[in-house]
This record gives sequence, C-alpha cells and structure tokens, in this order.
Amino acid sequence: ATFGNLSDRLADTFKNLRKKGTLSASDVDGTVREIRRALIQADVAFDVVKEFTGRVRERALGDEVNKALNPAQQVVQIVNDELVQILGGEQRRLEFAKTGTTIIMLAGLQGAGKTTLAGKLSKWLIKEGHTPLLVAADLQRPNAVTQLGVVAEQAGAAIYAPEPGNGVGDPVKVAKDGVAYAERNQHDVVIVDTAGRLGIDEEMMKQASKIRAAINPHEVLFVIDAMIGQDAVNTAKAFQEGVDFTGVVLSKLDGDARGGAALSVASVTGRPIIFASTGENLDDFEPFYPDRMASRILDLGDILTLIEQAQSAFDEEEAMKLAEKFATDTFTLDDFLKQMQQLRNMGSIKKMMGMLPGMGQMKEQLDNFDESELNRTEAIIQSMTRAERQNSKLLNGSRRLRIARGSGSTVTEVNQLVNRFEQAAKMMKTMAKGGMPQIPGMGPI
Ligand code: GDP
Repeated sequence: ATFGNLSDRLADTFKNLRKKGTLSASDVDGTVREIRRALIQADVAFDVVKEFTGRVRERALGDEVNKALNPAQQVVQIVNDELVQILGGEQRRLEFAKTGTTIIMLAGLQGAGKTTLAGKLSKWLIKEGHTPLLVAADLQRPNAVTQLGVVAEQAGAAIYAPEPGNGVGDPVKVAKDGVAYAERNQHDVVIVDTAGRLGIDEEMMKQASKIRAAINPHEVLFVIDAMIGQDAVNTAKAFQEGVDFTGVVLSKLDGDARGGAALSVASVTGRPIIFASTGENLDDFEPFYPDRMASRILDLGDILTLIEQAQSAFDEEEAMKLAEKFATDTFTLDDFLKQMQQLRNMGSIKKMMGMLPGMGQMKEQLDNFDESELNRTEAIIQSMTRAERQNSKLLNGSRRLRIARGSGSTVTEVNQLVNRFEQAAKMMKTMAKGGMPQIPGMGPI
C-alpha cells in the first residue's frame, strides 16, 4: 500500500538506532542520511526532503536529545513531529459559511477523482446533517454529467445539471445557476464539479478561474491523485498559480503510490490537506489528520507510549529471571499468573496489542479476545495449591474438579487452561533458545 516501502525503510533506520544508548554526531548524520534516502525513494519532492532532514538533524543534535533518557526514542519523536509539520500540522476542517449556503468548488486534473469525491463528500456531509447539492459544471468529458448523476444518487444527494443534449454549454453559467438554485432551495452546501484535462492546460485553468470568480466559493478543493508521484508537485503548483485553492484532497491513497505526493503537496503549496480518499467506494473517504498520517507512515503505532508502559510494567531483572526459567524448563503456573498480572498493569491487552506495529493481521483475533477470560484464568490458578502451581503434573482429575469448584468454573475450562499453560511453556522454551519474545505470556492469545 501507499507508504509501505517508506515505512519499512524508516522502521529499519530506527531499529538500528534503538540499539544505541547515546548518540554521537555521526550516529545522527547516518540516521539523517538514511531518512533522506528513504524519502527520496518515496518520491518526496527534493526541496521538501532537504528542509525536513535539515530540521530533523538540527533537533537531533540539540539538547532535547542529549538530555533525553532514551535518545533513540527522542529521535523517533522528532521525526514524527516533523512529519506532522510537513503534512500541515494541525488538522484543518472544512470551513462552512457563517450564514447561507457554503460553496465548494472542486478542481484537479481529469482522472484525479473529482467526480468520485463529489459523491463521497456529499455522502459524508449528509451524514453530518447537511443537505448538499451537486452541480455538474464539467461539460468537457462526454459522460461527466451522467457520472455525477450516478454518484449523487448513490450518496442520496440532489443534483443540478444542464439538460442533456443541450450541446457543450457554458460551464460558468451552469456553475452560477447551480449555486443560485442551491441558495433558492435551502441547500446549505453546494459542490461544484469542474472539468479537468489530462495534463496541465491553460484553457482549463482559465475556465476554472472564471468559475471561481463567478461563484466566489468558500472552499476550492484541489483533488490530487497520490499515484502520480513526482508530477504531483508541479501539478499542484500549476493549479495554485492558475486557480488557487484553499485545501487539498488526496485521492487513491489506497493504491501502490510511494506516498511522495502526499508528503510534498501541503508543504510545497502551503495549503492544508483536508480529506483523504482511499478507494472507489463512496465510503472510502475521511477527514485528514496530519498526526495520524504521520504515525501511519512511521508504522510505529503508539510505540513510544508502548515503550514507556512496557518499561514500567516489566522490570528487567524480572524479565531475566523469566528467561532463565523458560530456558531451564522451570516456568510454573505461578509465573504464568504473575505475567498475566503484569500484563494487566499495562492496561487492556487489546489496546496494547493495537499499539504494536505490524499487528494489523491480528486484528480479528484481537477483536475476539475477551479480557474476562483473563479473570477466569486468574481465579483458576488462585484456586490451586502452592504445590500444584509449582508443578502442573500433579493436576489429576480429582484435583482439577476441586479447582473448578473453587474457582466457579468447569473442569473443561481448567483443562483448557492447563493445556494452554503447557503449550506456552513449551513454546517459550523453544523461543528462549532462539531469542526471547518481547512479551512473554502472550502465547495463548
Ligand atoms: P475525475 O475525472 O477527476 O472526475 O475523476 P473520477 O472521479 O472520474 O475518478 C477517476 C477514476 O479513479 C475512477 O475510475 C474512480 O473510480 C477512481 N477513483 C477515484 N477516487 C479513488 C480512490 O480514492 N481510490 C481508487 N482506487 N480509485 C479512485
């Protein structure tokens, strides 16, 4: 997906960094160099890369890193902050008129996703309680009006379109009439779709400027296809000069784009990204949050928080002892319980797992994971005698029955727990030989 490669490369960079306790100037330079390469390879505009790496370097060599308890972590934080900045900083919401109808004009190249966006945006607006009208002022593409009609119907939005068979018509007049119609008919938002061309074209810019001047929109949204790579910057600049716009919509973020367009456009134009489009379906659409996008790119989830929580929940000595136990096969049900209680210290397991990077595929399993299960496990182990907890082999049928009664569970549940423990112990033992898992006790999940 978009940003896949970039994420991987940045993650590798930070992995190397994380092994270091203190950072020398040459560590910082090495890291910055790798970040620069990763960004250039992702098609980020050169000027943006230069500015970005310059700021990261300056901050990484400064006091905030020097004085940090964990310098590597601090550098990750800086990269994250700077990513948020080039993506526009604070989230910028769509602006509505204080009174009367909010006029939104769409601009962009042909195929950028304007018409699709008109549908997505109106569906979203309807959900937010608005009554949008779509105006078909793209009279260039033969079936643009029909296509707008289709998305309007899917979105449940009203449409204003010139009569079919009315010749080429005048898009400026259609736009103006459409806006007037919206105002007369109490539509609180009107979205004007305009014609694009396959490439930057003076005629198209002129027409779009004329429409802009005629309807005086509150927002001009420039729609850009994230797949067009390096060309994105030039296209955006041309539209900024030719028509100018108040905000950007990134479309096709679901594709295999390397992400450079997304990372460059806000920074190069100084205009905020307001929405992101992530598919052909009208629901594949969301407001854009620079900070969320940055963490998605870094693929770190809330790894910084996770690192902190993990550090407070597991003390290192304890972890070493456990590793020893796994290796020598002296891991007991007591240890199993202790670990689970430690995990509980870290807050809900589900939340924690969600913060681990690369856990996407486990999401379904997570959703099925029930924390009350943990409570039961705890009750069962606590109903065992000391000796039983030290040696699970003692657990014969009558002992299991007693434990089940004592913990308010069934013998089957006790059996399941013992099996799980034994499997976990076995798995941990294997892992201890070939490298410790980060969080012991997660086996059964
Ligand atoms: P327009 O010429 O700017 O109006 O572009 P269209 O809205 O007609 O979109 C061009 C093509 O891109 C269509 O086939 C859309 O289905 C597709 N498209 C639009 N937005 C997205 C998106 O976010 N993701 C994907 N995968 N396809 C999209």
